[in-house]
Amino acid sequence: MSENKIPYKIYLEESEMPKQWYNVRGDMKKKPAPLLNPGTLEPMTIDELSGVFCRELAAQELDDTTTYFDIPEEIRNFYKMYRPSPLVRAYCLEKKLDTPAHIYYKFEGNNTSGSHKLNSAIAQAYYAKKQGLKGVTTETGAGQWGTALSMACSYFDLDCQVYMVKVSYEQKPFRREVMRTYGAKVTPSPSMETEVGRRINEQFPGTTGSLGCAISEAVEAATTQEGYRYVLGSVLSQVLLHQSVIGLETKAALDKYGIKADTIIGCAGGGSNLGGLISPFVGEMLRGENNYEIIAVEPASCPSLTRGVYAYDFCDTGKVCPLAKMYTLGSGFIPSANHAGGLRYHGMSSVVSELYDQKLITARSVEQTSVFEAAETFARIEGILPAPESSHAIRVAIDEALKCKETGEEKNIVFGLTGTGYFDMVAYQKYNDREMNDYIPTDEELKKSISQMPKVDK
Ligand SMILES: *Cc1c(COP(=O)(O)O)cnc(C)c1O
Repeated sequence: MSENKIPYKIYLEESEMPKQWYNVRGDMKKKPAPLLNPGTLEPMTIDELSGVFCRELAAQELDDTTTYFDIPEEIRNFYKMYRPSPLVRAYCLEKKLDTPAHIYYKFEGNNTSGSHKLNSAIAQAYYAKKQGLKGVTTETGAGQWGTALSMACSYFDLDCQVYMVKVSYEQKPFRREVMRTYGAKVTPSPSMETEVGRRINEQFPGTTGSLGCAISEAVEAATTQEGYRYVLGSVLSQVLLHQSVIGLETKAALDKYGIKADTIIGCAGGGSNLGGLISPFVGEMLRGENNYEIIAVEPASCPSLTRGVYAYDFCDTGKVCPLAKMYTLGSGFIPSANHAGGLRYHGMSSVVSELYDQKLITARSVEQTSVFEAAETFARIEGILPAPESSHAIRVAIDEALKCKETGEEKNIVFGLTGTGYFDMVAYQKYNDREMNDYIPTDEELKKSISQMPKVDK
């Protein structure tokens, strides 16, 4: 047997780690639509945004012309503890599928928080510290973001206050305890500690909370405490900027071995890992240098790109955040209770939305039982127990590889493996017990939440 030319794991040297983040908006001729002040419907200014976010992050949020931002030394030093992350050639999966396709995945689950979210958490904590803040507030649903942020805050000795959706707080005690171990204060939401939390508890006694409600509480906590700002783990353009480290490393690793990707696949919740993975590749497309097939994968139960509308909408259910133009199902949309696989945000990053609208990327929705089936196949052959979110990308990578089996094409398929699934065993249990089913919202349901969106003529 001849030696494989491409190793199983393509590692970059520490010195090959990106020194700058890439802002794909800089290369877009038609830019994503600006965030609007929900009161005046005028574009948000840096001063307005700086009341909620750290000033430097607000500047990154609004900057759609600068293509490269230096990654500060302190952040690079933290990255070095778990980056560059490996790009893995899935030889075992290829063999199992008996496909001529070459499958690669960029693995972001190699840190204690278990996902790519740490890439942005550490950046946001750094800028908060640099501004001399005491701490930051945020919300978390399943807990990956809260976990990443608590790690980042403990590193920079910042106070971290996490509003965790009450049902997850109770049902995911392990995530909660990881956050507390890293020093975060975790409060079940809705709480009695904020005005909005008390109001919601009064109106809906016994409610188990929602992400939208937790956002409202976290924003209130940030704006009513001296020396605090609010941070968010996805959707925002600043988060995509930080996550570009994923795509830059992926591209550097492929280039190192002379591999040209044909198809690039990522799961899409708020769009941050996908946006980060594809940014440098889309940049080449925008500059007319190369072409790629890019596929965003979302759950059939929360299909913002494939069945949503492209319009201004609230980013949160509490309607306290700026309006963003995005593919959305309406901020009142709540995925069915039996949906287990994450990616439950009603909208999509404005950058990813605009790229999709310009047809530079495509989107596909997949049902959760088929996602867990792919997760099981992957876990059994590639050794990694994938997060349910990541498994959406695995599903489509497998589907594409199986197509190649029919056509005989030797395509290079690259997908983002965003994290591990150790804290998602309740969902795996449902799948193992054959208690998982698929729910696809009807047109009527979507129409209802879409009809409640703000009417913005822009
Ligand atoms: C949060 C998360 C996602 C989805 O968020 P995006 O902003 O769309 O990337 C995907 N995978 C994992 C493991 C996550 O924790």
